Amino acid sequence: MIRTAAATIPVLGSVGYYIHKKTENTVPVSNRSRHILTTPHYEAQLGSASFEQIKKSSSLTILPPSHPASSTVSAIGHRLAATSTDANKRWNFVTVSDKSQPNAFALPPGHIVIYSGMFKYARTESELAAVIAHEIGHVLARHTGEKVTDSGVSSLATLALAGISGLIFGGDSSAAAFKVLTIGKSFLYELPHSRDMEREADLIGVELMGRACFDPRDASKVFERMEKDEKRKGGGRGGGGSSYLSTHPSHGERVGNLKKWGRETWEKNRGREEECREVNRRWEAMRRGKFRNHDRV
Ligand SMILES: [Zn+2]
Repeated sequence: MIRTAAATIPVLGSVGYYIHKKTENTVPVSNRSRHILTTPHYEAQLGSASFEQIKKSSSLTILPPSHPASSTVSAIGHRLAATSTDANKRWNFVTVSDKSQPNAFALPPGHIVIYSGMFKYARTESELAAVIAHEIGHVLARHTGEKVTDSGVSSLATLALAGISGLIFGGDSSAAAFKVLTIGKSFLYELPHSRDMEREADLIGVELMGRACFDPRDASKVFERMEKDEKRKGGGRGGGGSSYLSTHPSHGERVGNLKKWGRETWEKNRGREEECREVNRRWEAMRRGKFRNHDRV
């Protein structure tokens, strides 16, 4: 008996090591290493189901793609996303008409939702790019998979229900857990972002802005404006402030980080002036006049 038990130790060790290596994952741009028990395929299923639930239960007023505000959000989103090398994402940029909500969120495999209340703070295309790039950052970093892994939802019981093979190795064998996980309104949407994830989405966002030839120094302006407004209203975190700030905790360091990374990324772009001038010249020709009435949405 002892011999049998002893023989299983190396086997368990090997399996453990295999799962450890299989679930190890590095975040692009920040190069942070973490473990994710879900696959991109599984996250995409969860994300899209959650997005459908949010649309139904929150009765969002989604602007048609032809609307100037949504065509702007979509054009900026695709310009930013095109600089990512991740071909597995399916981008779906959506604008919600709700001036009372300066809000935005992202779900896999690439649903990016911007509320029109955000236009009060993101006043130029470059500043709007900062908001969208931050959300794209969450998707590229697979923060949903990490949140599901860390939230305790991926407890042993749930993993057993899902079928470890389905979660770790892909496929649809996780259908049972999929149903359990998506019960209730906007499950994924409500899981809080960690401070690390927010910082990381900011870092990736600024990097994407630079790659796409937006001015990365504009990123700090949006959040600075938002924080000032929150302070003026006497709101702020946990004090009845905007839902964006409650899901995107504002720290004193955030604006400082964005300013620093924005400057560094801008410096890194020296030498690309001609390329970026051309990108922006073509963009202006295409976009002329298309974002005039965004603040009336
Ligand atoms: Zn965020």
